[in-house]
Amino acid sequence: MDIERGEQNRVIPQKCPVCGAQREHLSYMPLGYDKDRTIVHISCTKCAGAAMIFMSQNDGGMMTVGVLTDTTPAEAQTFFQSDVVSDNDVIAVHDYLNSFDGYASDIF
Ligand SMILES: [Zn+2]
Repeated sequence: MDIERGEQNRVIPQKCPVCGAQREHLSYMPLGYDKDRTIVHISCTKCAGAAMIFMSQNDGGMMTVGVLTDTTPAEAQTFFQSDVVSDNDVIAVHDYLNSFDGYASDIF
């Protein structure tokens, strides 16, 4: 199932996730995308807040996850152009979290 651009735009926040400022205060930088996934950095000129939005689509539906960040658009772009996350990286994180015994806040 292909994602229509309009459908992706519908799930990209139109307000600042930090202060609620309207779209005219936001700038969007695509960090990466293919036919099933899109990653966008959003920054707000009103509060200097920023977030990264991860959208994924498959036959089961669309999932959107947003995380607040203190990176600038340029820093985020550099990060995403650096090392590609491998399957082994994902397995290592899974193993770490599977054996982790503590509060989620301790991880960060
Ligand atoms: Zn804001």
